[in-house]
Amino acid sequence: MRQFDYIRPTSLADAIAAWSPGAAYLGGGTNLVDLMKIGVQQPDRLIDLGRLPGLDRIEMRPDGGARIGALVRNADLAHDPAFAAAFPVVAEALLAGASGQLRNMATVGGNLMQRPRCAYFQDPHSACNRRAPGAGCAARGGEASGLAVLGWSDSCIATNPSDFGVALAALDAVVEVQGPDGGREIPFAAFHRLPGDTPEIETALAPGELILALCLPAGAAAFRDHARYLKLRERTSFAFALVSAAAALRMEGDRIAAALAGEADEVLVVGHSSGAHLAVSVLSALIRAGRVPSDGPALGLLTLGQVVPMLSFLPRAARLRGDLRFLSTRDELAWIDISAPGDGCSFALCDPVTVSGVAPEAKRWPLVISAAFTQTLSPERWKALRWRFFRLHFQYLCAFDRPGDYDYFRVTAGPQTLAARYDGRPASKSRIEVAVSKYTSVQAA
Ligand SMILES: Cc1cc2nc3c(=O)[nH]c(=O)nc-3n(C[C@H](O)[C@H](O)[C@H](O)COP(=O)(O)OP(=O)(O)OC[C@H]3O[C@@H](n4cnc5c(N)ncnc54)[C@H](O)[C@@H]3O)c2cc1C
Ligand code: SF4
Repeated sequence: MRQFDYIRPTSLADAIAAWSPGAAYLGGGTNLVDLMKIGVQQPDRLIDLGRLPGLDRIEMRPDGGARIGALVRNADLAHDPAFAAAFPVVAEALLAGASGQLRNMATVGGNLMQRPRCAYFQDPHSACNRRAPGAGCAARGGEASGLAVLGWSDSCIATNPSDFGVALAALDAVVEVQGPDGGREIPFAAFHRLPGDTPEIETALAPGELILALCLPAGAAAFRDHARYLKLRERTSFAFALVSAAAALRMEGDRIAAALAGEADEVLVVGHSSGAHLAVSVLSALIRAGRVPSDGPALGLLTLGQVVPMLSFLPRAARLRGDLRFLSTRDELAWIDISAPGDGCSFALCDPVTVSGVAPEAKRWPLVISAAFTQTLSPERWKALRWRFFRLHFQYLCAFDRPGDYDYFRVTAGPQTLAARYDGRPASKSRIEVAVSKYTSVQAA
């Protein structure tokens, strides 16, 4: 039995004063206590932060940002209605982690400081540079599934297990810390260190420093509708990520609006693949906001190899469906959609508005045209490319041997506007115009 001191300070100053080399701060204990039980961590003093005043608060700031005290429980943050509405990607990441019981106990500060999940790290009998610097790394040449593909070093190939941290990195969070030498702020991207030659130093915290709070900047709330957390793991709950990603997309349309206020003949927006549905939403928002002047440049939307149904068929894609429906009737733009059988990564020749089940009576867009690879590519090239589905997904952006009505270079660099070029051109006969989506609800404008 190893003896250790356990203290529960009631002020920040006392907590920091109680720290000395060999001591450890204690949050919810869901990681540290486990590691103590198996002898991986052996602090001689535990400083329980649980009684420090004010660290369990979530503060939504007037500028749209937020400050999350280090002792806020993972579950409380994920289920806080105001926080989850403003920063859904963070709530999603938290709820993707651990289990309900663990999230009820675990603190956000402890989550960011949790130790690696490498099996050799957790086995005191294995060589591990993190536990014992210079001892070697048993994971190299051992069981390495779930360990790093990027960012590893010769000394260590472990990953950081936190889901929460991935979302914070995407939103440019800042970590507020306090230590014997006072307080400071650390940008989240600089908080965790790559292993390099010193894998035992996992964060930018100096000795004795502790996390006080995490701050999301005002700008982070702008990503509310366009940020998602995706986690791939061996089973759908209670498992660490094999790989995960948080993506936050800025969709402001400011550059397009500025161009529309200029002198050009035409502003041409080109959306390829998933860029097609992004362009639909950006242009819908601009038109709704009255930012497309009636006396400005012509507005053209060229969508290439679209994958709109991948999103518009989802139950909760009411906003995109509303945008498709809205844009399909507008006079402010000309919308031409190009795809072709053979492109295995698009919904070739599907009219994205109609197949999504939201075509209104007054629908006029998009004009769906086939790039007809069998005719526009030479027989030799078609033979070489016909089974290369992913390569063909990018053919719209490449030169054709025998360009037909569609040629990327003529459309984007030629003298005609998109509307003039396709004026009177009928849609391809082989287009698909059958409403097939089960989900057709639309979000009101
Ligand atoms: C079975 C299981 C499955 C899990 N699955 C996941 C998962 O899928 N995704 C995921 O993200 N996590 C997962 N976890 C990890 C879990 O999220 C962490 O155990 C938890 O977040 C740690 O928080 P805590 O407050 O309990 O930290 P503690 O265990 O108290 O502390 C962890 C570390 O942080 C330090 N620390 C604590 N608070 C502070 C502070 N304020 N300042 C400085 N240092 C501090 C401690 O000294 C210690 O080193 C899982 C855990 C278990 C047991
Ligand atoms: S990968 Fe890192 S944590 Fe795992 S055994 Fe090697 S040094 Fe230790």
